[in-house]
Amino acid sequence: MKVYIFVDMEGISGISNSEFVMTNGRHYGLARRYYTDDLNACVRGCFAGGATAVLARDGHGSGDHFLWAELDPRVEVVQGGTGTTRLVGIEECGAMILLGYHAMAGTPGALLEHTYSSASIQNMWLNGRPAGELAFDAAIAGEQGVPTIMVSGDDYVCREAEDWLPGVVTCQVKQGLNCQAARLLPRPMAHALIEERAEKAVRKALRGEIAPFVVPPPVTVRHEMMERKGIPAAGSSPNLKIIDGRTYEYTADTVEKAFFGLC
Ligand SMILES: [Zn+2]
Repeated sequence: MKVYIFVDMEGISGISNSEFVMTNGRHYGLARRYYTDDLNACVRGCFAGGATAVLARDGHGSGDHFLWAELDPRVEVVQGGTGTTRLVGIEECGAMILLGYHAMAGTPGALLEHTYSSASIQNMWLNGRPAGELAFDAAIAGEQGVPTIMVSGDDYVCREAEDWLPGVVTCQVKQGLNCQAARLLPRPMAHALIEERAEKAVRKALRGEIAPFVVPPPVTVRHEMMERKGIPAAGSSPNLKIIDGRTYEYTADTVEKAFFGLC
């Protein structure tokens, strides 16, 4: 079984504020190393659990943060922007891991909480339920029949994962204290935990114990933007409904289409 690892940066071990995750931040150089190290720990765990291959998506912002020369030599990587295909290569895989994730926008106390853009998106909903990145990404993978088997990050994103994804293996590498502070596990412990949980998750997946997260159609994705300028023009798509001056939704037959406003 090939395992897809979607890697975000906010929930990576050792990262505790915006200075790490912005490319112009004071600690960005360190963050790239931590990001690479967490992925390597996860890859080791996947192979120990029985994975035959691993495909990793460099998923934070512009998607080009791994220290490529320092990656485990067994991992293939998707880098860069991929437009309206959120999970390039997911159809080749039998399971997905969300590594370094963060809680949805507006979660009180959670570290670096947001939903896709802390600058423009206030809130999002999936079929009427407040939803963050982990729910959307798990649902897009679920449409390909791929279960989300593990989520790593702070305690808040681990709880969010358990709420959405029954049977998922969680991996708490830090405790959120507020949006810009965290209590961090010691580095060797965090890496050992990621490795151990990834191994456990892959074993569970190989036994068929974690079902894909499937959202029955029709699917409605609602966006509440921070400013009016983020709203698509009324009538620009038959699937679009404008709710108010800052809120709109798309309805489609798949999560991926509704997410991107495709017909
Ligand atoms: Zn991110």
